[in-house]
Amino acid sequence: MKQSSSLEHLQKAIQCETISYPDRSRIDFKEYDKFIDFVKKAYPLLHKKAKLEFVEKHSLVFHLKGSTDKDPIALMGHYDVVPVNPAGWNVGPFSGELIDGYIYGRGTLDMKGQVIAVLEAVEACLEEGLVFERDVYLLFGHNEETGSEMPDSGARLTRDLLKSRGIHFKLVLDEGGAFINGKAMGVNSTVALIGVGEKGYLDVELTATQNGGHASMPPVTSALYDVFQAAMKMESHKFQADFNPATNAMFEALVPHMSQPLKFLFKYKQLFKPILLLALVKSPETASTVRTTSVMTMASGSSAPNVLAQVAKVNINCRIIPGDSIEKVKRRIETRVGPKIKVSIGHGTEPTDICRSDTPQFELVKKALSSVYPEFSVVAPYLMVAATDSRVYHGMSEAVYRVGPFGSMKDDRGTIHADNERISVDSFLKGIEFFKIILKEGSKA
Ligand SMILES: [Zn+2]
Repeated sequence: MKQSSSLEHLQKAIQCETISYPDRSRIDFKEYDKFIDFVKKAYPLLHKKAKLEFVEKHSLVFHLKGSTDKDPIALMGHYDVVPVNPAGWNVGPFSGELIDGYIYGRGTLDMKGQVIAVLEAVEACLEEGLVFERDVYLLFGHNEETGSEMPDSGARLTRDLLKSRGIHFKLVLDEGGAFINGKAMGVNSTVALIGVGEKGYLDVELTATQNGGHASMPPVTSALYDVFQAAMKMESHKFQADFNPATNAMFEALVPHMSQPLKFLFKYKQLFKPILLLALVKSPETASTVRTTSVMTMASGSSAPNVLAQVAKVNINCRIIPGDSIEKVKRRIETRVGPKIKVSIGHGTEPTDICRSDTPQFELVKKALSSVYPEFSVVAPYLMVAATDSRVYHGMSEAVYRVGPFGSMKDDRGTIHADNERISVDSFLKGIEFFKIILKEGSKA
């Protein structure tokens, strides 16, 4: 397959305005149909050889039969995107314009770039006449951006369908991962990270009630005071930090590349645990990988400036570390805020289990990354603090990993869900090579 046609395909994919909204009536499904039509035309061999099923009308399940009955592999993705604010963009957000070696547009990184790279790689393998020994599934969701807990989540319903057929995957690969500067961890190079699990999510509402009355004769403490005092207790007593299987595996992988004195400290990390955890919680980035976090995100009181609030509320948004749980977090909050405050659980999902990184599947992903990016020779597993659709496949495979094989993400990560999202052409083409290796090696029986 020619490089120019691969680029054109990505541009065409970006030009479909597949914007996700939690309020499904706002979604323009014609754009989703346009995307599906484009995929049909652009990848004729895939459509000839694979069985295509639709779940919840717009999630795509491609199934390529392999020559053996061994456990299949799945490459996941989603083709919905988040809305744009055109005023902040230097180019049309859905133009797919190619400027100075970059393709611009909503979804280039999150994640049509990856979906198209997978499709290009599969089509190229089929053109070469490659016979997969294992079945290959391509699972492309249509509403990842609004969360896999929604009752109509394409990813969840697809999982249910495949589970009902008794399928167990050898490998599931989805978006995620990162390229980061290793300096903070004593590594003098870029570190490529592969996600092996995800934190949980929980909204907790704190409520204080009061009889109300006139603001000119205030009581000793108002409802707002009470609820904020409770919320402040959460701010000043953070959840306890500890190592978890994902951070343990990350440090183990990084120790050989660390410089002193960190190398020594992390080599004996159980011994130096208190000092290390103290250092790790200092930066928000590392703190989020070693403890459950909580932060105030919303507050409400009365509806007029001179009226006392009868009901005052603060929302605490928590991200739950593996090993912790919704129930445990709720109990700890109740103990901390005291009996005067009502604690109610809102939207929540448990953390996933952590996939091991000493598996042949992890080695394969690592090898494929290093072979297209020899400059990123340090590869390590890590805990993702954001959620992806792949969380629903924990339990259906021992190897659910998250990876973004695009080197330009290192500098352009901040454009995800923001203005001027872009992917470098070089990275995109390397991403295709990455998936070719995964398909060729990963589908061997
Ligand atoms: Zn995404």
